Amino acid sequence: MLPVAGIPPRAMVVLVVLVVPPAPEPEPVVGVGVAVGVTHGSTTATRRDGPGPAVGVLVGPAVGVLVGVLVGVAVGVLVGVAVGVLVGVAVGVLVGVAVGDAVGLLPGVAVGVTVAIAVGVTVGVMHVTTAAGRAPTCPDTTRVNDNTTAETRAALVMCFLIAQSHQHEQTIERYHNCPSPPLPSPEVVAAASVRRMSMGRIVIVGAGPCGLGCARELTTLGHDDFQVLEATGAVGGLASSVLDAQGFTWDQGGHVVFSHYGEFDRLLTDVMGEDLLHHERSSFVRVGDSWVPYPFQNNLHHLPPALAEEALTGLIVAGMSTAGSENTPDFASWMKATFGDGIVRQFMQPYNEKVWAHPADVMSSGWIAERVSVVPWQRALAAVLHQRDEPGWGPNNLFAFPAAGGTGEIYRRAAAPLAPRIRFGSSVDTINAGDRSMAVDGIIESYDHLVWTGPLDRLVRSIADAPSDVAAAADALVHNSVTIVGVGCETPLSDDRSWFYFPEPEVPFYRATNFAKYSPQNVPGGRTDRYSSWMTEIASSSWRPLDSDRLVERVIESLQLAGLVEPDAPIVSRHVQHIPYAYPVPTLGRDDALATIQPWLMAHGIYARGRFGAWRYELGNMDHSVKMGVDVARFLASAVPEEAWS
Ligand SMILES: Cc1cc2nc3c(=O)[nH]c(=O)nc-3n(C[C@H](O)[C@H](O)[C@H](O)COP(=O)(O)OP(=O)(O)OC[C@H]3O[C@@H](n4cnc5c(N)ncnc54)[C@H](O)[C@@H]3O)c2cc1C
Repeated sequence: MLPVAGIPPRAMVVLVVLVVPPAPEPEPVVGVGVAVGVTHGSTTATRRDGPGPAVGVLVGPAVGVLVGVLVGVAVGVLVGVAVGVLVGVAVGVLVGVAVGDAVGLLPGVAVGVTVAIAVGVTVGVMHVTTAAGRAPTCPDTTRVNDNTTAETRAALVMCFLIAQSHQHEQTIERYHNCPSPPLPSPEVVAAASVRRMSMGRIVIVGAGPCGLGCARELTTLGHDDFQVLEATGAVGGLASSVLDAQGFTWDQGGHVVFSHYGEFDRLLTDVMGEDLLHHERSSFVRVGDSWVPYPFQNNLHHLPPALAEEALTGLIVAGMSTAGSENTPDFASWMKATFGDGIVRQFMQPYNEKVWAHPADVMSSGWIAERVSVVPWQRALAAVLHQRDEPGWGPNNLFAFPAAGGTGEIYRRAAAPLAPRIRFGSSVDTINAGDRSMAVDGIIESYDHLVWTGPLDRLVRSIADAPSDVAAAADALVHNSVTIVGVGCETPLSDDRSWFYFPEPEVPFYRATNFAKYSPQNVPGGRTDRYSSWMTEIASSSWRPLDSDRLVERVIESLQLAGLVEPDAPIVSRHVQHIPYAYPVPTLGRDDALATIQPWLMAHGIYARGRFGAWRYELGNMDHSVKMGVDVARFLASAVPEEAWS
C-alpha cells in the first residue's frame, strides 16, 4: 500500500486527532491542531528514518491545522460528538491502512483507532460537561403572558439564572426585554427545584451569622455540594464571644438579640430553646453629671434646666421651620433640621462622630429609619412639662441574651451540625472571577457560586480581574474600627441598668455595657454576688485615630468618674480586643459605589452579603445577616428572590 502523498506517518495521527473534536468553538480545535502538528514536526525532524526535517516540520503542522480546522469543526459542530468519534475511528483505520507500508499495518491501525477513540471520548465528555453549564435555549420570552404555564415560567427563570451565572448576555437581554418577566411563584419554585441538580459547587466565605444562615438553609433545601471557609479558628464572626483566662466572657461589643425576621427567630428557637434570658432595655446618655434615659431627645427633662431649655428651643425651632428635613441628604444637615441646634450640640453630633469616627457631613441620612428616634417637638415638650419618661422607643427595647457563653453561643450551636462543612484557618487570598477560581492559602480551588460574607472592599481587592470602575468603587467604601476594653471587677453586680452612651470627648469610649447584667455566666462561675464586668467600645479611623496611650487605665478612670466602678474595686480582668472592620459607614457615596460593585459581582456568580458583604449598616445586625444568608441560599437553590438584601 502506498502512503498518502507527502504525509509522514505520524502526521496521520494528527489528522485522526483533529477530525474528532466536537467542541463548538473552533479555537481549541485550531489550538490542538497547531500544538500537535508542531510537536509532530519537531519530533519528525529528529527522526532519521522519517521523511526528513523539511517534510516533517512543514507538512505536520500544515496538515494538523488544515485538516483539524476543516474536518474537526465541520464534523464536531455540525454533526455532533458521536459522529465525530465515528469519523475519527474511520479515518484512523483508513490512515493506519494507508500508512501501513511506512510503519507497518497493524501499528498504523492501532494507533489511529486508539487515538481517535481516546481523544473523541475525552473531547466528547468535555463537551457534554460544559454544555450542561451553557445557557439553554430559552422559551420565547415575548410570548409570556398571564396564561403562561408555571412550567414555562420555571423554565424561563432557570434559563435566566443559568444565563446570568454564565454571563450569557443575549439571553439576559432577552429576559429583560420580556414584556411580563416571569416572577417566581410557589409553583415556579417547585418546578425550578430541578435546578438544584445543576447548581454546582457553592463556596461560602465566612462562618459568621450570614455564612452559617446560608449553610443551614442549603442543608435544609437538600443541596449538599457546598463548603464554608473560615479564616479564623472559630465561628460567629463579629458575633462571637471569648472566655478570658480569668473566667470572664466577652462579646465583640455590646450585642443584644432582637429580630425582624421569622428565619432568625427560628434559628434562635432551634439552637437556643429555653437557654435565653430576656431583658427590658434600660439605657442612658451621660451628659455632664446627668443620666438621660435613651432616647435622649424623648427625655429632655432629665437635663439640667439650662440644657433642657436649649435642647427644647432648638427642637421647636426646627420643628416649626418650613424647610423640614426632607432635603437633607447628609447626616449633619438632617440632624440639625430634625433636632435643632441644642440636641445636636449636646448629644447627636459628638456622640455620632465618636461612634462612626467620621464627620457627620460625609455620611448620608438614608440609613436612619428605625435607628434614630424622631420625636415631634410637641411630644418632647409634653414629656418635659409632665416630667414623663419615654424610654421604650425602638426595636431593641426588649432583647434576649444567651444564658451562658455570650452571644457567640448562638453561632457555636448553629455551627455544630455543620462542622464537617467548615474549614477553619482557610483564608481566601485571590479570586479569578472570570474562571470562577480562587486561591485559598495558596491552593487553587474552583466554585460555581461564591457567597462572600467578609468585607466587600477586601473582596474586590482580591479579585485579580476586577474592572477599574469596580475597583475604584470599592476604594470609596468607608468603615471604622472598634477596640473593646473589658474590665472585670471583683465587686458584686449592683447596677440594674443595661448600657450607657458617652458623647463627651474626654471619655475614651462611646458606650459601656453592664455585661454581668446580661447574664450571670458572663462572670467567673456565674458569681454576680462577687463579680461584675463592664465592656466598653472605642471607635477609630484615619479621621479619628485610636489613642492607645494608657487606654485601659483611661477606660477604668472614666468608668470610676461616671460612678460605674467603685474607686477601690479590685480589677481582676483587663480584656482588650481590636476589631478592624466594625461599622460600615453609610457615606454619601456608598450607594453609588454599591450600584457599581454588586451587579458586576453577581454577574460573575459572587454574592456579597452580611454586615460587611452587603456594606449596608441598615442591614447590619445579626438578624439581617442571618436572613441575608438564608435568602441567598434560597435564591441559589430554588430561584426565590432575596427579601432582605434586595
Ligand atoms: C460593636 C458591635 C456591636 C454590635 N451590636 C449588635 C447588636 O446589638 N445586635 C445585633 O443584632 N448585631 C450587632 N452587631 C452586628 C453583628 O455583629 C453582625 O450583624 C454580624 O456579626 C454580621 O454577621 P456576618 O456573618 O455578616 O459577618 P461577620 O460576623 O463579620 O462574619 C464574617 C466571617 O467571615 C470571615 N472572613 C472574612 N474574610 C474572610 C476570608 N477572606 N476568608 C475566609 N473567611 C473570611 C471572618 O473571619 C468572619 O468569621 C454589632 C457589631 C459590632 C461590631
